[in-house]
Amino acid sequence: RAKQQHRGSSQYFSPEMGIDARERFKLLKGLRAGFEENRLFVVYQPQMDLSSGRAIGAEALLRWRTEDGKFVPPDQFIPLAEQSGLIISIGEFVLRTACHQLKRMLEQGHADFRMCINISLAQFRHPGFMNVLSLALRDAGVEGRNIELEITESMAMGDTELVMHLLADIKRSGVTVAIDDFGTGFSSLSHLRQLDVDRLKIDRAFVREAQSSSAGSTIAQMVINLGRGLGLTVIAEGIETEEQRQQLLALGCHEGQGYLFARPMQAEMLERWMSDGQPRGA
Ligand code: C2E
Ligand code: MG
Ligand code: MG
Ligand code: MG
Repeated sequence: RAKQQHRGSSQYFSPEMGIDARERFKLLKGLRAGFEENRLFVVYQPQMDLSSGRAIGAEALLRWRTEDGKFVPPDQFIPLAEQSGLIISIGEFVLRTACHQLKRMLEQGHADFRMCINISLAQFRHPGFMNVLSLALRDAGVEGRNIELEITESMAMGDTELVMHLLADIKRSGVTVAIDDFGTGFSSLSHLRQLDVDRLKIDRAFVREAQSSSAGSTIAQMVINLGRGLGLTVIAEGIETEEQRQQLLALGCHEGQGYLFARPMQAEMLERWMSDGQPRGA
């Protein structure tokens, strides 16, 4: 597994990251060591068809267990990995691991299983990205059509020309693309229309808001209508209650993931969960 430092990357961080420079440096050192010593691993959260209750795939989510058994949340270490360039090799590890797990799911008879993988901006823009993606698919023996990449709204919005080329390359490999945390960024409608993506993933803030106020529900309805109007599938994240599931269905959103169905789980657990008829709260 390649662990080289990404060219031109920096070990220094800006103060706006919240934790002080020395602490960040320590954390990054730990992350580097953790990666080399295999303390990073991937968990999977099932994604459901909201009306049938059938699992249609899973999102791969990275975890880091430190030497003393503590978990550092990805929201803390992913930004560090991005700023240090370490995300290039960590991202490749996630891609390869998730592709191998996809292969297993397909072999276990879960036809059309869709594996969704989060991609960072630095990874997406790295010149070797398409190559890394094709090799990960080839080595795992899976087809692009069973893979979906999740990119954030802000990633899709910068540098139109480059992003459109990248999306076209990805499309050619059969891989689909979702815009993650949709609604939290500031994408213009005209820009969104130009982008060749397949799915909008509604941020869990809207799922929560939809239930708590009528303004919230109006906004959720607008976001869902927007996606559908653009001919995209809409998926919701962070579904925690049966009421939310029903409300999303009523608003026209037919796919989702959240603690109501299952928490992110380790590979063996996912396999058991999928073949055990998917008990709730696994
Ligand atoms: P995300 O891609 O939006 O992932 C969804 C997050 O929501 C996950 O947090 C998941 O555990 C959490 N979640 C799922 N269902 C529920 C629910 O019902 N309620 C609540 N409150 N939360 C729920 P997690 O695993 O902590 O990941 C946080 C973020 O870190 C991700 O947000 C993604 O942006 C990033 N991330 C995780 N793994 C990777 C990775 O492999 N590569 C990259 N580039 N980013 C990653
Ligand atoms: Mg995601
Ligand atoms: Mg998300
Ligand atoms: Mg989110």
